[in-house]
Order: sequence, then structure tokens, then C-alpha cells
Amino acid sequence: MEQVLFRHNRPGRAATFAEYCGDGGFEALKKALGGLSPDDVQQMVVDSGLRGRGGAGFPTGKKWSFVPRNLPGPRWLICNCDEMEPGTYKDRVLLEANPYSLIEGILLACYAIGVHHAFIFIRRGYETAAANLRHGIAEADKAEFIGDNIMGSGFSCAIDVHVSAGRYICGEETALMNALEGKRANPRSKPPFPAVKGLWGGPTVVNNVETLSNIPAIVAKGSAWFKGLAKVPEAAGTKLFCISGHVRNTVCVELPMGMTLGEIIDGPCGGMLPGRKFKACIPGGASTPFFTADHFAVPMDFDAVAKAGSRLGTGGIVVFDENTCMVGVTLNLIRFFARESCGWCTPCREGLPFVHEVLTRMEQGRGREEDLEILSEHVHYLNYSFCALAPGAMGPVEGLLRLFKDEIREHIRKNGCPFK
Ligand code: NAD
Repeated sequence: MEQVLFRHNRPGRAATFAEYCGDGGFEALKKALGGLSPDDVQQMVVDSGLRGRGGAGFPTGKKWSFVPRNLPGPRWLICNCDEMEPGTYKDRVLLEANPYSLIEGILLACYAIGVHHAFIFIRRGYETAAANLRHGIAEADKAEFIGDNIMGSGFSCAIDVHVSAGRYICGEETALMNALEGKRANPRSKPPFPAVKGLWGGPTVVNNVETLSNIPAIVAKGSAWFKGLAKVPEAAGTKLFCISGHVRNTVCVELPMGMTLGEIIDGPCGGMLPGRKFKACIPGGASTPFFTADHFAVPMDFDAVAKAGSRLGTGGIVVFDENTCMVGVTLNLIRFFARESCGWCTPCREGLPFVHEVLTRMEQGRGREEDLEILSEHVHYLNYSFCALAPGAMGPVEGLLRLFKDEIREHIRKNGCPFK
């Protein structure tokens, strides 16, 4: 299987600048600055079908195209590396192995959209990744790939690494911009979307680490090649899946977009742990509704997973065996989201702790039949919150109600958790 993102990896350590260049690194930047216009680069990304890998899957080239072309004043690019979605560790693995694809991807993106200053907003705790990035930026700077008048092209670009204050909400793109401006990390209303009005009021593109790391290969090898890497015609490229839970191998792997859930679990994961049977999984990070064994044939790409009732999200798959209590799993996730709510809007601030309370009483044997209706109402009403945190948090609750109603009723009937 062809690797785009893990192509430069070396066992047990990060690729060096010389190794990255030896593998064809920075050739895409040379190609772009040597003969492609910014519009050419943007068109290649549009044609490649690349969709945002941070979770939402928004088409990357389309997002870039929203940046107003002739507006005076600075514009910005932010790489979102505030990877805090439970079950998700792909960006960390990527950057611990190779910071250079991201650095080159940022430079190409900045060239395409006319940005001269990019920020990498990185999760506190990702020390090795941040150190690799700082070292990589210094190496690229020495080689004149960063800074003023890069390789005599007339294009200039700086990259700064900013360590997050360390809350889940800081990864929400508008809260992130407030944090970067030194303000409290509350989300802003959208629209206006950041591509039009973002950091310090200027047009700002916010892209995920994995998204940007794909750009050098797209520019070097072309859009058709990238599109052709996927296993299904509707999708494009490869995807990093990070899998954890009750499988034999907990791994972060790069696979063609559109491999089925069953192929991923039986293949790179080596199946379930000995003697365990698959019950369910979170398919794309903690804010996505569960999948069961009935979903093994679903191709893991944005559209197919959405059609099957969940979201590809970050590609963080968490697997549960048949002895796992799904009410308990959901309670655990809601505890996280309720704690991480920034408190800015009422539905999220008040709603998530209440859902937590309802799930707690169910798990402790104090559940009531009407709790099903209460949870359902909250799945609906928490969609009316200010940002994606609360609707995302309710993803597992929605999945619980749709797929595990019998298990909820058993908790109520038996006055306690049947798995304890
Ligand atoms: P969103 O769908 O609101 O937006 C996705 C992106 O597209 C944003 O950058 C947004 O600005 C842009 N966009 C959408 N419509 C636009 C328009 N009309 N014009 C211009 N730009 C437009 O989603 P979101 O709130 O940015 O992200 C939610 C996702 O984040 C969830 O799907 C979740 O899976 C994921 N997530 C990831 C992590 C992580 O650690 N990687 C953590 C939490 C959540």
C-alpha cells in the first residue's frame, strides 16, 4: 500500500532534514516556487479531492478559495495541532516521526493563499512533536526554505510554534484564534468563517496537521495520483487511523481512504484480543456515534460513514468487546465533554452536566424509563449550542439510544449495571 504521510518514517526516531530531502522532500516547494502560480497550487488541491483531516472533512481547496484575493492587510494560516479528541493521536505520531511534510505543506499552503506568517498551534503535552517542529523549522530556515525571499522567488514566509494553554475548547478553530490573540478561549460565532474574518480580523485558513502534510505529495505527484490512492471513487488519498481498545494491536496506520471497518480491525489491528468478541466501536474520535459489527462492511471514508449514521471524524477508532457496558462508555465520554465545556453558552454549560447526571443514575441503578426521552430531547436541543462541542458530545449518546436501547432498559430493569 502506497504511503504518503508515513513514507519518510524511520524506525524509532524522527527523520532528519537530510533524509527528508533525500526522499524528495522540498521538491514540491521548489516546483511551486519555480514555476507554478498560487492559483495553480490551489487548483491542484481542489482537484485532488483532499478533505480536512481534523474531523469535519471540509474540502481543503474550497476552504482556501474562500480567502478574499485582493483584500489589503495581512492574512494568516494556522495549523491546528491541538489534538485533544479522545481516542485520537495520529498528529502526534506523524510529527514525532517527521515534522518536515507539515513544514513544507504549510509553506505551499501559504504560497497558494498569499500568507506570509503561519502559526502551528500545538497541544500542551506534545513536547517531542513541538521540539521536532522547532528543530525542523530551524533546519529549513538554514536551507533558505523559510524566511525572506525563499530561494530567490520573492515569496516570504515565517512559521511560529505556539503551545496551547491546554483545554479541549482551544482546538475549536475560533476559540483557538481567541487563545492565540491572548484572549479567553471562547468560540466566536460563524459566519463570518475564519477564511473571511479570522485572526486579528484578517482572513485566516485553519487546517489540521494531517491535511497540510498531504500537500507536498499532491503538488509533487499530481491531483489524479492522490485521488487514485483511495479504495472508493468518492474518496481521495490515504487516512491515518489510530486504533485503541480491545484489539490485539493498538496502532496508528496509514491506509487507503475507503478500507472497510472490518478490514481495518482484522488487518492492521490483528483482530480482537484473544477470547474477546467485538461489540462496538467509536469510529472517528469521541464525538462520533458508535458502530457495531453490522457496520464492518462500511468503507471508512467521509461520505460512506456519514451515510451509515456516524462520522469518519479524526479516524480515531476505539474498540469495545462484548463485556463492555455501553452506558458506562457513554458516561465516561460525557464526563470528559462536560468538564471541557467552556461554559460560554447555556445549552452546553447546563446540558452536558445534566446528561452526565442522567447517565450516572442509570449506571448506578437509579435510572427511570423517562430517562430515555430525556436523553433523546438533549440529543436534539444540544444541537442549538454555540459551537460543535456539545453536538459532538451528544454523538455517542445518540448512538447509545439508537443501537443499545435494550442495554439501557436492562440497566433500568435490573436497578444497576448488568456488566458489574
Ligand atoms: P465545521 O463543519 O463547522 O467546519 C469545518 C471547517 O470548514 C472549518 O474550518 C470551517 O471554518 C470551514 N467552513 C465550513 N463551512 C464554511 C463556509 N461556508 N465558508 C467558509 N468556511 C467554512 O466543523 P468544526 O467545528 O470546525 O469542527 C468540528 C469537527 O472537529 C468535528 O467533526 C470533530 O470530529 C472534530 N474535532 C477534532 C478534534 C481533534 O483533536 N482533531 C477535537 C475536537 C473535534
